[in-house]
Amino acid sequence: MDLEPRQHVPVITPASHSRRDFLGLSGAAGLATAALFAPTFARAVSERTDAPIRDTPARRATNVIFMVSDGMSFGTLTLAEIVRRTRDNRGTHWPALWQRDGSRRCVMRTASANSLVTDSAAASSAWGTGVHINNDAVNFTPDRLTPVPILVQAKQNGKATGLVTTTRVTHATPAGFVANCPSRALEDEIAKQIAERNVDVVLGGGLKHFPAALRSRLDGTSVVLASDALAAAAPNAPLLGLFADSHLPYDCDRGAKDPSLAELTKIALARLETRPNGFVLQIEGGRVDHAAHANDAGSLVHDQLAFDDALGVVLAWLDKRDDTLLVVTTDHGNANPGLTLYGPESFRFVERLGRTRHSFEWLFEQLATKLGYDDPVDNSKFRNEDRIPSLVQQATGISLLPDEITAFTLALRGKQTALFRPMSSPACVLGQCLANHLGVAFMSPNHTADFVELTALGPGSEMIPPFVDNTALHDVIVKSIDLAPARAI
Ligand SMILES: [Zn+2]
Repeated sequence: MDLEPRQHVPVITPASHSRRDFLGLSGAAGLATAALFAPTFARAVSERTDAPIRDTPARRATNVIFMVSDGMSFGTLTLAEIVRRTRDNRGTHWPALWQRDGSRRCVMRTASANSLVTDSAAASSAWGTGVHINNDAVNFTPDRLTPVPILVQAKQNGKATGLVTTTRVTHATPAGFVANCPSRALEDEIAKQIAERNVDVVLGGGLKHFPAALRSRLDGTSVVLASDALAAAAPNAPLLGLFADSHLPYDCDRGAKDPSLAELTKIALARLETRPNGFVLQIEGGRVDHAAHANDAGSLVHDQLAFDDALGVVLAWLDKRDDTLLVVTTDHGNANPGLTLYGPESFRFVERLGRTRHSFEWLFEQLATKLGYDDPVDNSKFRNEDRIPSLVQQATGISLLPDEITAFTLALRGKQTALFRPMSSPACVLGQCLANHLGVAFMSPNHTADFVELTALGPGSEMIPPFVDNTALHDVIVKSIDLAPARAI
């Protein structure tokens, strides 16, 4: 944990059952209190070995756009670029950004306070408040302190705020910018906090956490539950758009009425750009992470491409202005996929990846079961066993070999054990079978401790050193738009 007093430090308040009972405990004193409870090894991994953040940016920004491809290992970025070049004869936006004048490219460390392998809640909280906390918590320290999240601080400074995601809007990564909660699983509470903390634009999934009683309390907010109703939403009112009960569909499963991340990004920018004091907007490609957990190479590539399309929307919007800091990154690696078979066949593999028609999630639904990355599931009562070959064909265009069909069926019955045990799940076994045809293998169904990619552009980006801790990004946001210190909430 970084204990150095800094110009801008998060205000930290001790949590209690009632928010009204909060006592102000600000700045370095709060951080020092939090550090007393941090495990020794966490302090060791959190020590800054990177160059310090410069005190002030060369020029102030008015807006910050923070884009997160959740759980994006470097291999995911590579596969998306290769598929787009092979299939669409053009490159993706992210690697092209590295070559743009003035862009900044860095490597980021992602460990949380209690784990070298972070989860999304601790990782987003590191950006959201500049403090390392334990996995599963959202801006909530082990001793129950609640630092003020960046969107709340921005709002106190007169900025508009926004959250756009393909997951439930109450999921860990958007929550890390706005909420304080002892567990990411308390999504009903996170929904209440999103409502109370007056985020101006919220677009994604997660309707089940916003019951009618909560929605009716959102006085003056346009609540939109279908994408074709967005055009009719009052242009200057706060906007809550929820387009699925849970997560939005994977991009390869998306129907005509399911909005893409690029479309949602366009809507958010059109509403926020009119705000006179600027804005802070987080945009998340949240299901890249889910596809990696599932070892589902086709969905992974298509959701990364959808994220890249959203980045294209942002870059086109930035062409008209120079007052915005853009950060494009990920919260952690996941499953480390990679194209890993040799020869001319590799080009065929990539063509197949580009033709993916449905996700593993869709496939498992046809088998009357679930993938189970959110909650453990019992796959053993699955149905439609005889349709496995045709369903896999329909989803991926690939004809499984007889031994692969047997392995996948045994895995669904819970009777397949890999030597690295986490790879025994039905999804991981199917991923391994498909690796014979797609050339893409995964190392696990879990996040990784790898350093990750970060690219930035615009005023304030020059402050980011080549090797940076995730907590330092909070400083970068605060300093780039010159936010006054947060007041306790
Ligand atoms: Zn994850």
